[in-house]
Amino acid sequence: MSIRVQDVTKKFGDFTALNQISLTVPTGQLTALLGPSGSGKTTLLRIIAGLEAPDLGNILFEDEDVTGRAARDRNIGFVFQHYALFRHMTVFENVAFGMRVRSAPKAEVHERVHELLHLVRLEGLGNRYPSELSGGQRQRVALARALAVKPRMLLLDEPFGALDAKVRQELRTWLRKLHEEMPVTTVFVTHDQEEAFEVADQVVVMRQGGIEQAGSPQEVFDHPATPFVMDFIGNVNVFHGRVFGGQAEVGPFTLSVKGDTHSEPRTATAYVRPHELAIERTASAHSLAGRVVQVNPAGAVQRVRVFAEEFGIELSVDLVRERAQQLSLKVGEQVHVRPWAARVFTPDQDYVI
Ligand code: ATP
Repeated sequence: MSIRVQDVTKKFGDFTALNQISLTVPTGQLTALLGPSGSGKTTLLRIIAGLEAPDLGNILFEDEDVTGRAARDRNIGFVFQHYALFRHMTVFENVAFGMRVRSAPKAEVHERVHELLHLVRLEGLGNRYPSELSGGQRQRVALARALAVKPRMLLLDEPFGALDAKVRQELRTWLRKLHEEMPVTTVFVTHDQEEAFEVADQVVVMRQGGIEQAGSPQEVFDHPATPFVMDFIGNVNVFHGRVFGGQAEVGPFTLSVKGDTHSEPRTATAYVRPHELAIERTASAHSLAGRVVQVNPAGAVQRVRVFAEEFGIELSVDLVRERAQQLSLKVGEQVHVRPWAARVFTPDQDYVI
């Protein structure tokens, strides 16, 4: 069941929370709505759910226009950040609730609840009460409860927002697996870019009630459509300057820019990801001298911070393990840093270097 959002506008008084949004959520895929606080993610989710009505535009499920249909008639499963389970009911009864309301036969309820508890890896905990579960387990019960009535789609609003980093990480991996086993069309709100990129098939970056970019995680990461997306999705090094005569002079670096056809200098901002900076012990053309101020292992890479005193800037560099071992950098030593890739945005043209 695909979801199509067509030219949706939503105002709260004078404030435009969504401005002519159009988006397709493909069948069986997981789409993440990513953006800073207030960008309209939850409002869009609530409109898809039917909990809020758009002022303009339509919502289609497959080819059916559901804009005027109430939430309860849309057959959607929800999980929210603080989706309180029924405290006086066991895990089993919580998951069974929706089916009981629909008067499903007892045997069918038992079978489906057991199947779901297995799916969310909570077999054996059916008799516990929510207070006897961890936060991560409770969110998994909430997901099982949402899935119990075989919804046509699943809407999740910051479902792991209240949990600590380690549990969040576990649940992300788990959600991805769950989705492979049971590919329900899912829309997932998050302000955590790592979460969006790890879990989603499609990432939709929102800003001030509009969509900045929608695409696969790879597309959005490798080809950010705007400086906002570039900034938002990462720990990037940002340099300001200008493009002129086939060269970008940005911060301490001069980069050659192919395809610059303008005769006038233009203001430019260059974005260089930490893995796009190389560290060397000797100076080379266009490299920048600096001092290592921090060396941190960060998963598969080593994150190094280099302070370039001459320019008063700190650079963030990621080294793959092999290179990190080769260099064995120590805090305080002098190094030379140089970008081997960059994205340069000018007001009217973007360049990938
Ligand atoms: P967050 O990550 O903080 O949840 P969000 O991207 O989900 O943010 P929304 O909750 O969709 O943002 O809100 C978008 C904007 O609309 C915000 O400025 C918010 O204050 C405003 N807004 C949302 N709901 C209402 C409402 N019922 N009445 C008035 N303004 C609202």
